[in-house]
Amino acid sequence: MRIVLLGLPGAGKGTQAARLAEVLGVPHVATGDMFREAMAAGTPVGLQVKAVVEAGAYVPDGLTIALVEERLRQPDCAPGFVLDGFPRTVGQAEALDRLLGRAAARLDRVLLLDVPEAVVLARLTGRRTCPACGATYHMASAPPGPGGACLRCGATVVQRADDREDVQRRRLETYRTLTEPLVPFYAAAGRLVRVSGEGAVDEVAARLRAAAVGA
Ligand code: ADP
Ligand code: AMP
Repeated sequence: MRIVLLGLPGAGKGTQAARLAEVLGVPHVATGDMFREAMAAGTPVGLQVKAVVEAGAYVPDGLTIALVEERLRQPDCAPGFVLDGFPRTVGQAEALDRLLGRAAARLDRVLLLDVPEAVVLARLTGRRTCPACGATYHMASAPPGPGGACLRCGATVVQRADDREDVQRRRLETYRTLTEPLVPFYAAAGRLVRVSGEGAVDEVAARLRAAAVGA
C-alpha cells in the first residue's frame, strides 16, 4: 500500500507512521528524519538544509523531491510505503504523482491526521527526541527514562531546535500557507480520508489502520 500521512507539525505523524508501516509491512519514509540524519552526519545535503530546517522553513522542492525520488526507487519501497512529512507543497504532490505514474503506480490513500492547534502546540512543546537513534518522547504522555535517557539506546534526549516556541509558530504558519492546499488537492482526487488524531496513541493507531485498509 502507498500511503501519505498529512497533518500539522506535532499532529503525531511520526508516531503513527512508524506503527502503520510496521502493520502494513512497508517502509516508513520520513523526510524530516532524513534531513535530521543528514544534518547529524554533516553530509553536503545536511549542511545545505540546516539553517532552513532550524528556522522552521521548508527545504526547496527540488532538493526534497530528488531525495524522495531516490528513496522510493529502493527495492524495499516496491510493495509500498508510508510517507510522513512529504509531500508538503502542491509542487511536491504533483512530482509524487508523476513519479508514481512512471512506475504505473498510484497512492492508495492520503490520511489527514486531524488535531486542533492547541493540542498540537502542547505536543510540540513537550516533544523530546533522541539525537542518537531518533526515538520520539513527550515529557507528559510518553516520557524518557530517568535523567532524560532514551529508553531504546540510552543517549540523552534533547529538544529539537525547531520545537522552540518561536519556531513552532513559524512552522504552523508555513503549514497553513504551503501544505494546507494539499487538503483540497487530494480531496478533489477522491483520495483524502480525515482521521481524528486526538486521544491515546493506541486509539489513533486503530483509527488509522481502519482508514488505511477500509474500502
Ligand atoms: P509529527 O511527526 O506529526 O510532527 P510526532 O509523532 O513527533 O508528530 O508527535 C508529536 C509529539 O506528540 C511527540 O512528543 C509525541 O510523543 C506526542 N504524541 C504523538 N501522538 C500522541 C497522542 N496520541 N497523545 C499524546 N501525545 C502524542
Ligand atoms: P518534520 O520532522 O516532518 O517535522 O520535518 C522537520 C523539518 O524538515 C521541516 O520543518 C522542514 O524544514 C524540513 N522538511 C521535512 N520534510 C519536508 C518537505 N517535504 N519539504 C520541505 N521541507 C521539509
